[in-house]
Amino acid sequence: MKYIDEFRQQDLARKLAASIADEAHADRHYRFMEFCGGHTHAIFRYGVQHLMPANVEYIHGPGCPVCVLPIGRIDNAIDLAEDPDVILCTYADLMRVPASERKSLLKAKAQGCDIRMLYSSQDALTIARNTPDKHVVFFAIGFETTTPPTAVSIKQAQAEGLTNFSVFCNHVLTPAAMRALLNAPEQVAIDGFLGPSHVSTVIGSDAYRPFAEQYHKPIVIAGFEPLDVMQSTLMLIRQLNQSRCDIENEYTRAVTPQGNLKAQRLMEAVFDLREHFEWRGLGLIPDSALQIKPEYATFDAEQRFNLPAIQASDSKGCECPAILRGAKKPQDCKLLGNVCTPENPMGACMVSSEGACAAYWSYGRRSTA
Ligand code: SF4
Repeated sequence: MKYIDEFRQQDLARKLAASIADEAHADRHYRFMEFCGGHTHAIFRYGVQHLMPANVEYIHGPGCPVCVLPIGRIDNAIDLAEDPDVILCTYADLMRVPASERKSLLKAKAQGCDIRMLYSSQDALTIARNTPDKHVVFFAIGFETTTPPTAVSIKQAQAEGLTNFSVFCNHVLTPAAMRALLNAPEQVAIDGFLGPSHVSTVIGSDAYRPFAEQYHKPIVIAGFEPLDVMQSTLMLIRQLNQSRCDIENEYTRAVTPQGNLKAQRLMEAVFDLREHFEWRGLGLIPDSALQIKPEYATFDAEQRFNLPAIQASDSKGCECPAILRGAKKPQDCKLLGNVCTPENPMGACMVSSEGACAAYWSYGRRSTA
């Protein structure tokens, strides 16, 4: 298949592995954070870590939208779903994320709440059109990739005069999370970043310039295939060896310097920056999430239902917060694979298809990376 097969070729992977082994200086350790959960899964699915020399290490980042959503926001969603006049619409990954008191959206659905799993915000609009006697809330999560479609659905609902549709907005911003990681008092040692693929198609590679200029961290925007990850790793190693901190783009087949201007304009038209937003593992981060603009307030479920801010703790023993900061890895969690499995997840990182614990479990790397 075009754009896939050529980025999975074994002989090229071997050549790249040989170049990396050759160019990585034996007397230094290279620690690269792959921000995005999609990269974590590519690394484990294709055994990329095992093709690296021992001194090239991948640190898993917070780029999984399900994982970084704090428990209090899941509790809010369950409260919404318990309203008999509400149909709550959400992506399937969120259904099994543990909420407070071992609740989850899946359990709430089993107890009779009307919760629908869907693939896009457009499906929620369709449900709202077809069910005028109920209020449809779309539980919106995701980074800059999934935000433009949510903006489209809000504009569409307004244009159609739909009065029974609103959005519980939990869209978050990638650069703000990267900044929080680099500003953290107990900073995890990171030599460079594999930049996100899909997010970067929207925000563009220029959005990362401050990380090179202020934080002196090289970033290479990487595609999701194994050769993308390996080539990007080699590019990072070369930058560090040459004492450079640049923004480079390996994923040129999809990412441009400016990104998708139409999608950016849509986001600006519908959303404002939130003053701060809580991230699982990273805490409150200023300017790190979006809220619906006052002119679209009628489609803002938080305002319409007066949702409170709920503080809740993660499951005892679950290391998701430290894993999302890059301070620990899934094998550091004592619950991995015994108490916590995909069938009985104790934390979001085991539930999500982009979660680091799910990657370790799925690809058999339970004890060592
Ligand atoms: S293995 Fe389970 S309990 Fe442990 S950190 Fe991952 S999700 Fe949390």
